[in-house]
Amino acid sequence: MALSEGEVEVRILVVEDEAALAEDVRTALEQAGFTVELCADGETAWFKGDVEEYAAIILDLGLPTLDGLSVLKRWRQAGRSTPVLILTARGGWSERVEGIDAGADDYLPKPFQTEELIARLHAILRRSAGKASSVLSAGRVVVDARRMRVTVDGKAVALTPLEYRALAYLLYHAGRVVPAVELVDHVYGGDDARGQNTLDVLLGRLRRKVGAGVIVTHRGFGYVVEEEAGLSPGEGVEGRDGA
Ligand code: CA
Repeated sequence: MALSEGEVEVRILVVEDEAALAEDVRTALEQAGFTVELCADGETAWFKGDVEEYAAIILDLGLPTLDGLSVLKRWRQAGRSTPVLILTARGGWSERVEGIDAGADDYLPKPFQTEELIARLHAILRRSAGKASSVLSAGRVVVDARRMRVTVDGKAVALTPLEYRALAYLLYHAGRVVPAVELVDHVYGGDDARGQNTLDVLLGRLRRKVGAGVIVTHRGFGYVVEEEAGLSPGEGVEGRDGA
């Protein structure tokens, strides 16, 4: 889909040092209607992101001259709030946590489908357009993704990093039933040793902290945080199979 006359150009900076991958991403994004600028090293990326305006930045972490995480930290320290989607190694759990800590808006493990990249990009663009900051809310629950803070009815709730990851992901996708396997992959970073049971235990603890009605289980399908989460009383389980 090409931009038609008069449409606003949506510029995306893609920071990736693997030339073939960078070109694939460029092609896919241009087909999706974005204007793309490529950059293959950290120092240049830091400079560009600091002085130019982009709608969003896709940032690889392993880069020559300056690593992606340092680049991101410098932007955030300089007050640059451009949405950033980081590309991480498969199963690179600590990278993801560090990235989110450093102010990333989302991440995508390599290898990825370009369709997934574009979907994530649209999501962070929507969030940044609709909200002044990376604050997500659904009903009584508010997640400040930049500060990794969660409040329910305005009161701060202390969550472990894994609980936070699960809740923030469900809030990013509020209104959509997230399949259990997708949530496991997101929370545990593709660590196959942890499965459904571990997730159930995690969600049990999370529900005790944020309120039972916030995360609704659709048996056999997955989990959803509704847009008006927790505003009406609910026991947190809604059976769809056999209904
Ligand atoms: Ca790289």
